[in-house]
Amino acid sequence: MSAPRPRADRVAAAGGEAASELKPVTTLKGVGEALAQKLGKLGIETVQDILFLLPSRYEDRTQIVPIGTLRAGDRAVIEGVVELAEIAFRRRRQLLVRLSDGSGFLTLRFFYFSAAQAAQLQRGVRLRCYGEARRGTIGLEIVHPEYRRADGEDAQRTEDSLTPVYPATEGVQQGRLRILTALALAEVERSSVRDWLPPALLEDLGLPTLAAALIYVHRPPPGADLAPLALGRHPAQRRLAFEELLAHQLSLRQLREDIRADAAWPLNPPGALAERFLAGLPFALTNAQQRVLGEIRADLAAPSPMLRLVQGDVGSGKTVVAALAALAAVECGFQVALMAPTELLAEQHWQNFEKWLRPLGLPVALLSGKLTGRARQSTLNAIRAGADVPVTIGTHALFQEGVRFKRLALVIIDEQHRFGVDQRMALREKGSSEGRVPHQLIMTATPIPRTLAMTAYADLDVSVIDELPPGRTPIKTVVIPESRRDEVVARIAGACGAGRQAYWVCPLIEESDELEYQAAEATHAALVGALPELKIGIVHGRLTSAKKEAVMAAFKRGDLKVLVATTVIEVGVDVPNASLMVIENAERMGLAQLHQLRGRVGRGVAESSCLLLYRAPLSPLARERLEVMRTTNDGFEVSRRDLQLRGPGELLGTRQTGLLQMKVADLSRDADLLPRVQHAAEVMLARHPDNIAPLLRRWVGARERYGKV
Ligand code: ADP
Ligand code: MG
Repeated sequence: MSAPRPRADRVAAAGGEAASELKPVTTLKGVGEALAQKLGKLGIETVQDILFLLPSRYEDRTQIVPIGTLRAGDRAVIEGVVELAEIAFRRRRQLLVRLSDGSGFLTLRFFYFSAAQAAQLQRGVRLRCYGEARRGTIGLEIVHPEYRRADGEDAQRTEDSLTPVYPATEGVQQGRLRILTALALAEVERSSVRDWLPPALLEDLGLPTLAAALIYVHRPPPGADLAPLALGRHPAQRRLAFEELLAHQLSLRQLREDIRADAAWPLNPPGALAERFLAGLPFALTNAQQRVLGEIRADLAAPSPMLRLVQGDVGSGKTVVAALAALAAVECGFQVALMAPTELLAEQHWQNFEKWLRPLGLPVALLSGKLTGRARQSTLNAIRAGADVPVTIGTHALFQEGVRFKRLALVIIDEQHRFGVDQRMALREKGSSEGRVPHQLIMTATPIPRTLAMTAYADLDVSVIDELPPGRTPIKTVVIPESRRDEVVARIAGACGAGRQAYWVCPLIEESDELEYQAAEATHAALVGALPELKIGIVHGRLTSAKKEAVMAAFKRGDLKVLVATTVIEVGVDVPNASLMVIENAERMGLAQLHQLRGRVGRGVAESSCLLLYRAPLSPLARERLEVMRTTNDGFEVSRRDLQLRGPGELLGTRQTGLLQMKVADLSRDADLLPRVQHAAEVMLARHPDNIAPLLRRWVGARERYGKV
């Protein structure tokens, strides 16, 4: 087994240029070892790191606002003379100071104050204060304002730019951060911070230069419109977000190029196995399945590894496509590994593959947790020996210690959003043999909009199965308050009476396994009580996998008519006779997840329904989300709306955590930039390749996220 060559060098080399923004913070005046250490804990090591620590909000201290024009909720600087100061006892001891500036008056209220403070705030003293005006008992008031005496010489001076407020930085005061950013900005003004985006590109985009953007976001001029700044929509912020998105895009592309540079076995069989397989199927492939299969075959025929993501709505028939890809490798005499996210799904895939491949004389191995002792060892030996085991199915345990393949040419990963870039990189190493790395085919049932896919999956080629097999009746989705549970139970009795089966999914209780389990038990008991004539099973995370599988198998066989479950049944489970899905507390689940759950029904010919139960009252947002579920069955549309309503976090799951931890960019807010980011990436690759490494160093390299590759 030979590991692919490491390529961390590329990012590291970028650090070589000695631009002043890469100098350590200690080169700034007044930054000693102690402060440098504190900053280091916050991940701030270079002058550049300071520049890219961006304000989370701004305060306008550039002008003194007449008290008479203040409204509740305004944050402002005011100046006035103390008219009255008294210590009052209203529930708590407090210092009340009445301040007037001729245009009006307001009250300063202090709950914590020293004797010296109380003595200082005497009638006639002139004060400058900053704080948020609120409606008080008599007119406006500010609780615990920042204040200082304003009778001195520089009484008239105000700030000459908006005051940045930086995100919470343990142990480093705001005032200190303002000084540090001022010093770093001086470097920018000496034009010693390189703009890696070429001017022509910026002009096309209508975005400011890096220097202009940095200066603006750190020190917005007086009169700057705070509204777009607060929303992150100011051109200066957009410029930085753009650059960050571009850096991520380029880093993923680099990752992809690196993998592409590895060697893989070209798989280009005559196709006899596929023909026999297709002849045995009770259906013909849809056009979409055929198209995607064509794309996969073209990839497999190449001597560099395929990296293809197949997106397809639930029930679009991804498994058959995966099987055909597997057959291409097998026909060429290689091994295939199929990795599923759970034991349950691994088992289900194994059953399908057995059913499909047995008749072709091809055994399929299942490497499950259940398989132990001698049996496990003999399976492992067979896998290592090679051709006797052309296809192996399992969970991520497939790539753990002790599992060796003789000639692995293709890895298929189902329900990809649970596997991250890191896992795929590990796989590349584990799976490689004789200097070749396996092709990778990744399947996901969480379709995401194209521009987001091109960003999140820039390291992959994407195929879409955008057509469902014919003959499916659309699922009818109904939204019902929980108070009408009786009707729901009656619907279950009806469906089961007609020979169908039903799922009842219990609420997801993130905080507590125990509560989740109790809820499922309670629902199960209630249903058993209400429907004594039906056999009702239950699955939850507490069951051993053997027990879980036994229950699932009983439901699949039809021995159980109703299956009460926690959200463990979310992905992939295929029971065509089930036609009713009840989901409790639907208002708390993500749309993508609801869509997945709903996809468990509507797999047969019978008309299927999905009943979404909610607990009243619904928030406007929750109402809107349930309305999306009610009105569309299209997974792409659901995910588009989910993205709009909740942002990309839920949609992408944990896979792309890197993308979600961006400093400036926000994938939902800045989604409109994405097509231009794609284009800019092309321009950079074609015409400014030397700018790429330093750009990655700026945005990605410091955290070495992809550098470890
Ligand atoms: P998913 O894309 O959600 O993984 P599956 O691969 O589990 O979907 O397929 C769902 C069901 O549709 C399976 O029972 C499968 O056998 C069936 N199926 C797949 N392709 C077709 C097709 N072209 N025509 C009819 N049924 C199909
Ligand atoms: Mg599937």
